[in-house]
Amino acid sequence: MSEIKNFWKDILNRIQLDISAAAYEIYFKELVPIALDGDILVVVSPKASKKKAIDNEYNGFLKAALAETGTLIKDIRVILPDEQSKYDTSDTEEDAEPRMSSIVFNKSYTFDNFVVGESNRIASQAALAVAENPGQIYNPLFIYGHPGLGKTHILHAIGNELLLNNPNLKVLYTTAENFTNDYTLSIGGAKNKEVVKAFKQKYRELDVLMIDDVQFFEKTEKTQEELFHIFNDLYDVGKQIILSSDRPIRNLKLLDDRLSSRFAAGITVDIAVPDLETRIAIVEKKAIGFNYILPKDVGVYLANKEQNNVRILEGMLKTVGLYANLKQQPITLPLAREALRETQENTEEHLSMKKVVDRCSKYFGVIAEDVLGKRRTKKLVEPRQFAMYLITVLIPVIPLSTIGDYFNKDHTTVINARDKIAALKNDNDPHTILVLEDLMRHILEQ
Ligand code: ADP
Ligand code: MG
Repeated sequence: MSEIKNFWKDILNRIQLDISAAAYEIYFKELVPIALDGDILVVVSPKASKKKAIDNEYNGFLKAALAETGTLIKDIRVILPDEQSKYDTSDTEEDAEPRMSSIVFNKSYTFDNFVVGESNRIASQAALAVAENPGQIYNPLFIYGHPGLGKTHILHAIGNELLLNNPNLKVLYTTAENFTNDYTLSIGGAKNKEVVKAFKQKYRELDVLMIDDVQFFEKTEKTQEELFHIFNDLYDVGKQIILSSDRPIRNLKLLDDRLSSRFAAGITVDIAVPDLETRIAIVEKKAIGFNYILPKDVGVYLANKEQNNVRILEGMLKTVGLYANLKQQPITLPLAREALRETQENTEEHLSMKKVVDRCSKYFGVIAEDVLGKRRTKKLVEPRQFAMYLITVLIPVIPLSTIGDYFNKDHTTVINARDKIAALKNDNDPHTILVLEDLMRHILEQ
């Protein structure tokens, strides 16, 4: 049974590189592999409309992923739950309990891991209060602050805390972008009433709805109108709504007036730039999380170097950690300076994404344009993933979405690539370590 499941996981990992995050969420995540029928893998889709979409639109992607695995399995058949009895599912029975598709919150984004200072005290207190009494005190909770100051961290911390206190709670975290995609796909793609109904139901049965980055709602009236109704339905029955934005509500120009007045109806808290003390505490906390031994002076150096954005600060810490790791030396102030001089100061001229891609392509003996293209042969996927990883590590100032754009991919593809290489590296995979050392040298030298 675990064989089928692992195989399916592999397929999903490959598919994710190719299709949008929204399509993945809607069509693929819920599929459950149940049996092998000869050399055909049988998976169950909960809904006819979704099965149809997969058969019509995503079959090619499944086939390509299948081919890449080099397996003897020749095809994948999507069936509906009522056909399940036709197959021998004894291989997978053990895992037959229904899976609630609830979001898994990032385990490292907790209240414990969130450093509280003057800049975020009120926001974190309000968030904790909401996590302890959802729907009862601050509703909606609206958090705003510049990018990289911990909004997403706080939303995940609320999610983790809520589920810790009550694992049965239905909590959904989404972003304005994903909500829009989800809605657009449900009304457009399938042209099927059932999908629209499923969409509405999915949101209306929630206990807690979180929408991150609401500044990305576009002036697409239908989406906002749908959200308006969902908001009212949830709010009226005392369900908790939590929103984040990079700017205050009054500056959300693309938002419908009636929606923004709803958003403003509860409590609004802001997160400001953390002071030096707080930044030092954050760097030190992150270092512990990454298992780095970080001397005090290096923490202070980093906290002074980046004052406005914790994500960048964290990126610099990782750059230093990676550098120390590759040089097999402990983290010291001179080493940190060296690591960051070579990356940060030369960002524009020398360390552009182009350079990383060029060097990676050359190293693997492929053409840079192909690495940036759509084809997903093994020969191209490897250099692509190393290039993505190295860009996130060496040029942490570049947002994931920008990297994604550069590679003509979704930012989740970048995340997957980054995490994959990082995991291999953490497992001390010899090939990965060797390639990274070589590539770092090629990229950083001159
Ligand atoms: P935003 O959503 O506001 O852009 P994030 O929540 O993604 O920012 O935060 C960026 C990074 O900085 C995350 O890794 C987060 O854990 C970290 N971070 C931000 N503020 C803090 C803090 N006060 N304590 C610990 N980590 C923080
Ligand atoms: Mg965020």
